[in-house]
Parts: sequence; structure tokens; C-alpha cells
Amino acid sequence: MNYALIKKLSLQEPKTLLQRMVKLQEEVGELAQEVLVSQNASGTQHKSEGPDGIKGECVDIILVALSIYFSQGGQEPDFEKYAEQKCLKWEKHQQRP
Ligand SMILES: [Mg+2]
Repeated sequence: MNYALIKKLSLQEPKTLLQRMVKLQEEVGELAQEVLVSQNASGTQHKSEGPDGIKGECVDIILVALSIYFSQGGQEPDFEKYAEQKCLKWEKHQQRP
């Protein structure tokens, strides 16, 4: 992942923290829509998969979340460290009987 580019774009982005948060919610809604369509859920039969699909919406969510992270002064090495710690915690949780 090109963190340098994501960080540069994040710092150039004019959206405020609150606007980014709303954008994140919007992207989560788009993912929800894609999941509902993929499950042929009630009320979605007339809708079709969007151009980005589930995977694309996941990427949108990650990019907006990273833009929030970098806008708050987050640094790539710290991100890697936090992600590693959280993955280890996640792994530990999965190993519980
Ligand atoms: Mg999207």
C-alpha cells in the first residue's frame, strides 16, 4: 500500500474531521448496500451490484479511515505498530476455547 500517497492526499483534503466522519458513514452505507444486493436481500431485487462491488467499498472505507488517521497526525510506522498489536489481540481472541 502506498501510504505516502494516501498521507499526501489526506493532508491536502479540504474536508474537516466531521465531514470525513460523515463520508466514512456514507461509504459504510455503500458497503451495506453491496452486501444486501449480494445476498439478494428483501427489497434489493431491483438493484444491481455497483461498479465497485463489496471489495471496492471496503477499499473506500479503508481510504477514508486512513485519511482521518493521517489528518490527526498519525504516522505510518505507528499505524503499522497499532495494526500489528490489534492483529495479535485478534489472533489471541480467536484462539480462546
Ligand atoms: Mg464507495
